[in-house]
Amino acid sequence: MIDSGDYTKVVHAGVKPEEMTGAIMTPIFQTSTYVQTAPNEHKGWDYSRAGNPTRDALEEAFAALEDVNYGLAFASGLAAEQAVIQLLDSGDEVIVCDDVYGGTGRLFRQLFAKYGIVFKFVDMTNYGQVEAALSDKTKMIWVETPTNPLLKVIDIQKMSQYAKDKKALLVVDNTFSSPIFQSPHKLGADIVLHSTTKYIGGHSDIIGGAVMVSDEHLYEKIKFVQFAAGATPGPIESFLLLRSIKTLAVRMAKHEENALQVASFLEAHPKVDSVFYPGLESHPQYDLAKSQMSGFSGMVSFNLKGDYTDVLNFLDKLTIFELAESLGGVESLVNHPEKMTHASVPEALRQELGIGPNLLRLSIGIEDGNDLVEALGKALD
Ligand SMILES: *Cc1c(COP(=O)(O)O)cnc(C)c1O
Repeated sequence: MIDSGDYTKVVHAGVKPEEMTGAIMTPIFQTSTYVQTAPNEHKGWDYSRAGNPTRDALEEAFAALEDVNYGLAFASGLAAEQAVIQLLDSGDEVIVCDDVYGGTGRLFRQLFAKYGIVFKFVDMTNYGQVEAALSDKTKMIWVETPTNPLLKVIDIQKMSQYAKDKKALLVVDNTFSSPIFQSPHKLGADIVLHSTTKYIGGHSDIIGGAVMVSDEHLYEKIKFVQFAAGATPGPIESFLLLRSIKTLAVRMAKHEENALQVASFLEAHPKVDSVFYPGLESHPQYDLAKSQMSGFSGMVSFNLKGDYTDVLNFLDKLTIFELAESLGGVESLVNHPEKMTHASVPEALRQELGIGPNLLRLSIGIEDGNDLVEALGKALD
């Protein structure tokens, strides 16, 4: 269920009429630099890596979406993540949920581990594992919920308690839920992060990332990384995202409605082995999902019965759903995690997590739900 106030909030987030002309839409300020009246006397902008009015409007919109004080825009979700990790020093430890987005695991294992930051991957639905990983060096707990691709639900409040006990920061990657269905900051997260490539962008035409925080000191530190390292989005991407945000609530409502219909259909189908969707009562963490999410979003994973040849046949027969990586766009997509999005996850870990040859992940779009069910039904038969 979408909070009715969200429909209004997203339409107006970050946007005010432009001062010179009254233009209702924020203009695309396609400029790298700004004329100064005297050395270091200017109107608040001096160079577009440091600030750009179109990006500023987007950052205000980001803050409004997560109900926090500050938003920061990045060139991609991973650029947002690297800015957050740069808060840490060599020797610091991070506890990370084990089925994070494949690219997040790659960033941590293959890029930042070599600087002496220690990443401990654990199953965060198992508190014993979390407690065993905590130490006096724990500086950050990194949560992605629901997880990808198995849609496990992690208790944000519980993780925030662990973080507080260690005076560590709790980071929540809220990409899968979108700001419409989950508000991690209210549940104790210090930093909320999104790949805006997904639901916030929503049209499969932008790569982008967002960081949202309320603490001013933390904001200043991440803003410094944004400025000093420079992984910023351009004004056109910023404009397109501002435009996307206006329809975020209506899109999420339809994504969820369709996903529930598809998940229920798949669950009852004899050729389907198991369905993973937090909005199904059969989901092992349905109660937790209901208490920390106001809706269940549009991601559905399932295991097909049979062998890999049956999976290939199914994909071959499937209409409407295009075979592609990514998610959160208006059009429905199907992905084979083992061979596509999660190919960089170490083989042993993939097996342990249950990412096998029969697993498929659907990003349910905003088409007619009956059409989606019919397409899946025909391919299954
Ligand atoms: C896609 C994704 C990312 C990475 O974002 P990019 O925009 O591709 O860099 C991070 N986290 C999650 C959950 C994602 O789905």
